[in-house]
Amino acid sequence: MNFDFSPEQVTLRDQLRRFMKNEVAPLIDRHEEQRTFPFELLPKLAEFGYLGGVLPEAEGGLGIDYVTWSLMFEEAGYHWLSLRTILNCTNVPILMLSRTANPEQRKRFLEPLLEGKRSVFTAITEPNVGSNAAGVQTRAELKGDQYILNGRKLWITNGLWGDFGIVVARTYSPDCDGKLSLFLVEHGQTPFERRPVETMVLRCTGTAELGFNDLAIPKENLLGKEGEALKSTLAGLDLGRLHIAHGAVGAAQAALDLATEFAKTRQQFGKPIAGFQLIQKHIVDMTMKVNAARALAYQAACALQQGRATMECAIAKLYATEAAHEVANSALQVHGGQGYAVGYPIERIFRDTRGGTIPEGTTEIQTLIIGRALLGISAIV
Ligand SMILES: Cc1cc2nc3c(=O)[nH]c(=O)nc-3n(C[C@H](O)[C@H](O)[C@H](O)COP(=O)(O)OP(=O)(O)OC[C@H]3O[C@@H](n4cnc5c(N)ncnc54)[C@H](O)[C@@H]3O)c2cc1C
Repeated sequence: MNFDFSPEQVTLRDQLRRFMKNEVAPLIDRHEEQRTFPFELLPKLAEFGYLGGVLPEAEGGLGIDYVTWSLMFEEAGYHWLSLRTILNCTNVPILMLSRTANPEQRKRFLEPLLEGKRSVFTAITEPNVGSNAAGVQTRAELKGDQYILNGRKLWITNGLWGDFGIVVARTYSPDCDGKLSLFLVEHGQTPFERRPVETMVLRCTGTAELGFNDLAIPKENLLGKEGEALKSTLAGLDLGRLHIAHGAVGAAQAALDLATEFAKTRQQFGKPIAGFQLIQKHIVDMTMKVNAARALAYQAACALQQGRATMECAIAKLYATEAAHEVANSALQVHGGQGYAVGYPIERIFRDTRGGTIPEGTTEIQTLIIGRALLGISAIV
């Protein structure tokens, strides 16, 4: 495996760094304070290929390979994990739509997403259904030419602001007896209840609880075939985990850079704290974790480039998200009291890196996915 970036990848990385530094970083503090997201960035991010760039050109993408794509997510995570999160919650539906949408749905839902003109969420989790996604209780009953949707969804990223979402519901119709299907639910077309859910992590990602109460969804908003939701959502899982892993690597690198800079400038006992062996141990341990996480994350990217890479993406997601929070914790320690100060980047990175080990399958679930792949026996249920 070759870990060197090509000259084109280095050029892209430098362009992204300039963009993030000049156009994203100045916005972060205000949005963190207000718990909002600068959606006006989306069309600009689309120009770099951040929205669906991995799709083939014939499908509206740029044919970006997964290693380059990963580099892009690492840069986003380095600067702001809320940005990485909004990019993930846009790109997973883009992939699902590209695989299952009919021509009319592509025009109405996929194309505006690729251009950054609309925003989206995916709603699987419910108050009583988390890791066991197959247990979804939200119901969609076909009545005439409409599905009547009833149920609640919880922890939905961008649920608060998304123009539309892909909602998973147990479906009842003459052809479907309770299997899970996907529905395109548009807030403008069929308004539904949405309530902000404030969390300590990823404050600018519009986390919400959604309520559907006898919501009539036009029949043409069924995405794919009735009963095939699990097949379609599984397709997006590897990609989502790859995004989270690379975002975590970026955030961990940012924490390490901040700690290194602080250690060289902060003086105690008449010398920079970087001169103390115990501070050097922190920096060395952090560096080893960042490098290991990056290696696993790019290994997953290479594997995904070859096809499906469930085990590799689970390993990358598990290791990188756990390592990123450990690194952020050590970086905060190196900062002393300043590390706790609200409004400083290390405090935000510490909180946000805690937001990687639960979504898209918890650390425990990733462990069981890896165990199943290694041993051929599932210990999940
Ligand atoms: C910030 C954030 C954003 C999210 N965004 C979205 C979104 O956009 N869309 C969406 O649909 N969902 C979203 N989620 C939900 C997320 O996918 C779930 O939180 C996650 O799948 C875990 O479900 P749960 O929280 O109900 O925990 P539970 O499933 O109740 O798990 C509780 C604990 O039990 C453990 N556990 C569960 N089952 C097993 C098992 N078989 N073996 C061992 N341990 C087990 C878990 O690892 C965890 O430690 C988001 C969550 C967060 C925190």
